Amino acid sequence: MSLTVQLITDNLARVRERIAEAATSVNRDPGEIQLIGVSKYVGVAETAALLAAGCIDLGESRPQQLWEKAEAQELASARWHLVGHLQRNKVRRTLPVVELIHSVDSWRLLKAIDQCAEELGLTACVLLEVNCTGENAKHGLSADELRRLLPSLPELKHVSARGLMTMAALKGGLAVAENNFAALRELRDESLGECPLGVHLPELSMGMSQDFEAAIRAGATMVRVGSCLFDGVAP
Ligand SMILES: *Cc1c(COP(=O)(O)O)cnc(C)c1O
Repeated sequence: MSLTVQLITDNLARVRERIAEAATSVNRDPGEIQLIGVSKYVGVAETAALLAAGCIDLGESRPQQLWEKAEAQELASARWHLVGHLQRNKVRRTLPVVELIHSVDSWRLLKAIDQCAEELGLTACVLLEVNCTGENAKHGLSADELRRLLPSLPELKHVSARGLMTMAALKGGLAVAENNFAALRELRDESLGECPLGVHLPELSMGMSQDFEAAIRAGATMVRVGSCLFDGVAP
């Protein structure tokens, strides 16, 4: 086994251990938590090593890079997640290759996805990205925008909204991240009562290399981990 493959395999095992420890510390079943391996830092070969080590769900933050990797023969068995911003003009090429879009943050984008999905004859699975930080982040719905949007979701016949996603604040460290994660979970729990019939939002995509254990303790069902998986791997 090459050194890179060995490193990535060991890194993955360690991340899975940490996921399991965080889950059991709050009496959650580690099996409830899905690891999305974010491969945006590396090329096809290293991504293939992660896949071979057993990380089937892979994430990219740029649509273009996702398309390229989704076409690579070595990565044919991966399930792709788009975790970064999606522009409406990139929806058509993205939908056929993704399992889940984590980062939908406007009604306009939802409408574009619905229309494309109808034309392509598929159902698009999405998460709604919420900005829980109060920071002037470029992307993400405010809590109020989310509440206003929920009643209209059933109009979108070709979109299945599965849950919410957030990015913790850049500043403030773990304590602030913990507040952001708690806020997303509360928003989800409180939205349950307001959701129209047929809309469920079970998934919470939150937590990255710096804070995924805190996210799991706060209720994450999906963690998006990049750097930790490629520790020691030369760029
Ligand atoms: C890069 C990225 C991640 C992974 O970040 P790490 O800190 O490297 O684990 C997760 N989510 C999104 C949206 C990203 O862009």
